[in-house]
Amino acid sequence: MDQSKKPIYLDCHATTPVDPRVAEAMMPYFTEKFGNPHSSGHFYGWEVAEAIEIAREQVAALINAEPEEIFCTSGATEANNTAIKGVARFYREHRNHLVTAVSEHMCVLDSCFQLEREGFDVTYLQVGSDGLLDLEELKAALTDQTILVSIMSVQNEIGTIQPMAKIGAICRERKVFLHTDAAQAVGKIPIDVKQMKIDLLSLTAHKIFGPMGIGALYVGKKPRVRLEPIFSGGGQEKGLRSGTLAPALCVGLGEALRIADEEMLEDAARLGALRDQMWQRLYGAVPGLVLNGSMTNRIGVNLNFSVDGADAESLMAALPGLAVSSGSACSSASDDSSHVLKAIGLSNALAEASLRIGLGRFTTADEVESATKQLVKAITKVRDGRYEIAAAE
Ligand SMILES: *Cc1c(COP(=O)(O)O)cnc(C)c1O
Repeated sequence: MDQSKKPIYLDCHATTPVDPRVAEAMMPYFTEKFGNPHSSGHFYGWEVAEAIEIAREQVAALINAEPEEIFCTSGATEANNTAIKGVARFYREHRNHLVTAVSEHMCVLDSCFQLEREGFDVTYLQVGSDGLLDLEELKAALTDQTILVSIMSVQNEIGTIQPMAKIGAICRERKVFLHTDAAQAVGKIPIDVKQMKIDLLSLTAHKIFGPMGIGALYVGKKPRVRLEPIFSGGGQEKGLRSGTLAPALCVGLGEALRIADEEMLEDAARLGALRDQMWQRLYGAVPGLVLNGSMTNRIGVNLNFSVDGADAESLMAALPGLAVSSGSACSSASDDSSHVLKAIGLSNALAEASLRIGLGRFTTADEVESATKQLVKAITKVRDGRYEIAAAE
């Protein structure tokens, strides 16, 4: 496709482009610096191992962890699986209960479903129409059998920011480990694992302008968390994650987080203002739009709304100039409408008429302006049935 005619990319919750500075930092590790980081007997291994340790420091710095608490994984899916299954299986002789929420990412929920098949008990907390947990319900769910609470820091469809410091305080007081899927939070809002009392945290580079295929799991040392590894093998990453690390990807992850550390607040302010303008204009111009989630406790780059009286399939078809995402079956991998939108109380019809917009570092004011105009036009068209007529002609 002619590059200039590509749709405007507003799907940054799905993935983000690699920042050119990140790509540049990665390049030498494909070619001249090609050693195996685990080759401890010569220079080729050393120079690459050293680069990985710098990346580990960069990741640790952004979340106020120690470098030795950072373990590289292939992404947030693997980090979530490792954290949840790893902790549950390690402590199974002592405790057998976990707590999570119905609005978690499928990789968290599916890990819990697997643990239920292995004999663990799991409590799935409900969330309100704003996507927030009820902290009293969380407290009431904890028992002397609870080993782990897993709650995402930022929801990937509706952008809800959970009060992690409050959740952390509750868990620490009850001596229950807290894991958070922070794939949509790290690099976008300040996260401090010490202040928030987070014991395990998952992140992924490709949501933060880094490459796909690399992420990290933070495993706290104080209090010490133990995990049963998922992979068997050479014992890399202190035995937690066997397999040769991908140095170029590790360097990319580190550089992405280094840049986020410097530019996050500035990006968030600019993009939050653009998102607010977009919603105000849409809401003012088109009747019957329903905001999914609430505008408070919501990440600034996210917008998710349903279009009463339309369906996402027609909407998406009427929006060839935009790359956005919908909560309906046609555009997602699963064959259900979004479990998250249902969890906040939407009907199937409204859940299937939803659009998710995710802004990112490279989104410009002009793009948001053009996208807003395209949305107003497309929604009006689809509502009037004019789109179907036009398409049929
Ligand atoms: C993208 C995402 C994941 C999965 O991350 P991968 O690195 O693609 O495996 C998990 N959780 C959340 C909240 C996400 O947004």
